[in-house]
Amino acid sequence: AAMVGHSAMDGVAIGAAFQVGGGMGTAVAMAVIAHDFADGFNTYTLTSLYGNARRRAIAMLVADAIAPVAGAASTLLFTIPEGALGAYLGLFGGVLLYLAAAEILPEAHHEHPARSTLLCTVAGAAFIWLVVGIAE
Ligand SMILES: [Zn+2]
Repeated sequence: AAMVGHSAMDGVAIGAAFQVGGGMGTAVAMAVIAHDFADGFNTYTLTSLYGNARRRAIAMLVADAIAPVAGAASTLLFTIPEGALGAYLGLFGGVLLYLAAAEILPEAHHEHPARSTLLCTVAGAAFIWLVVGIAE
């Protein structure tokens, strides 16, 4: 459920970025959509690891797929003030940086010090670098 809430906020970030401008919206949308595959994978895996049935895990995956669309659509209902928009996007970026640097990467490399973990970390960074390059 937390992953679904997170994905809804991903969608809000897309909508908020489009309120800044089309270029910013496209860049944020591409970055969010690119990482949403990992969100879906994590949603299914976490739901399964906590002992839930496959049917429930798939239901959570569907909810996780709908959440960003609903989050982005919700921003059509309001305009975020210019000052708050930068603060929101800064907060969103900071939260993602913290999660990646302080939680996800240390956990990935803690009990899995394999070469494949390192290669996948580098491949993930290269993939996002490519997405950002395409979006600009
Ligand atoms: Zn996400």
